[in-house]
Amino acid sequence: MTSFKEYSVPEPSLRVKQLLAFIESAPTPIHAVMAAKKHLLAAGFEQLKESDAWTLKPQGAYFVIRRDSSLVAWRMGNLPAYQTGIRLLGAHTDSPCLKAKPNPDQGVLGYGQVGVEVYGGVLLAPWFDRDLALAGRVSVVTAGGQTAEHVINIAAPVATIPSLAIHLDRSANEGRSINPEEQMRPILWQSEPAIDFKSWIQSWLNQQGHAVQQVLDCDLSFYDYQPGQVVGAQGEFIASARLDNLLSTYVCLDALIHSEGELTRLLVLNDHEEVGSRSTVGAAGNLLRNVLDRLTASPLERQQLERLSVMLSVDNAHGVHPNFAAKHAQGHGPLLNGGPVLKFDANQSYATQSVVSSRLRHLAAQHAVPLQTFVTRADMRCGSTIGPITATLTGIETLDIGLATFAMHSIRELAGAKDPDYLFTLLVAFLTTTQAFVNDDTLQP
Ligand code: ZN
Repeated sequence: MTSFKEYSVPEPSLRVKQLLAFIESAPTPIHAVMAAKKHLLAAGFEQLKESDAWTLKPQGAYFVIRRDSSLVAWRMGNLPAYQTGIRLLGAHTDSPCLKAKPNPDQGVLGYGQVGVEVYGGVLLAPWFDRDLALAGRVSVVTAGGQTAEHVINIAAPVATIPSLAIHLDRSANEGRSINPEEQMRPILWQSEPAIDFKSWIQSWLNQQGHAVQQVLDCDLSFYDYQPGQVVGAQGEFIASARLDNLLSTYVCLDALIHSEGELTRLLVLNDHEEVGSRSTVGAAGNLLRNVLDRLTASPLERQQLERLSVMLSVDNAHGVHPNFAAKHAQGHGPLLNGGPVLKFDANQSYATQSVVSSRLRHLAAQHAVPLQTFVTRADMRCGSTIGPITATLTGIETLDIGLATFAMHSIRELAGAKDPDYLFTLLVAFLTTTQAFVNDDTLQP
């Protein structure tokens, strides 16, 4: 008889472990901002409110949160920001998912089911046959008759969307389409008499010790109960939900917290990127612009700051998939674990321009960080992110970069386990160097 020793995948780096813990604590953008707040407070950052006047001190570290799901954090430099410009990082807190509808109960045949809205560009097929948990924000009337909010995370496998058996659809493997209105209602229970969803949430809240009289409105998303983990025979990969874009969110946050330098360094985390950024918490909203106003004393100083500043918009890139290699342009297929990817698009779906990108390449080389380059095939449409929107609305030169991943917008995406360390090194170098990234006039007559 042959016996095999249990195979163990090598342990991930400390940064990857911390990243996976961050993602697990952040099933929704609200939880991501809550987790970021915890890290910032532990690092000595002070929370400010937009509704207050602020007194900012040199070397101070601050953050502000809008509507629970967007955040701006910054460390003040020694010199006035309008004289030096500032260094900005940006990422988004939201990920494509299925959200419970406002009137959620849509069960049939005695099954308790919830109607869902598709949030963002969800890859629908991987949602079938997963153990789903539920999280978000619930607005209630308390036992005392007051309105109140609760951020909740029912971190248990409470729902599932079963596939249809192949015997009932013999063409299932030949490009079957999926109708999210009719075919993707998660099943939560089978009970007589029927329970309604909001009463179930209310009894859960009461079990948690909140005295709730009525649930008024919910903003609740389903998510994969299976936590992220390192996969690959040699531990090369990270498999997890929400790598787009909590991977960038976490590494940006870590870089800001661990950066020391002369210049003012700022991180903006926006919600609603996956649905076009047009909201009070999205990149097209005024949160960042309002903070920049408060970092300067006049419109003139604000303009000077904008011309001297530079931003890295960090969001994942598409790695070239070995089974679908022809989907990438020749010479522009980033590899997992090949280092951060500079994203270009002549049609401005990415904000990257050559003067700034060349300076970043120079900086990366000085810190031994490999950089890769992505451009979409000329016969395909390019994705986009917060970079071009932020650049347009602030006038700040912006580079779009990110780590190569597979299965973007799946409920379980894949990234390289070495890449977070490369990205961290690059972002810290970017935040702390005093090398110029912008040139106000490159034209020599
Ligand atoms: Zn993204």
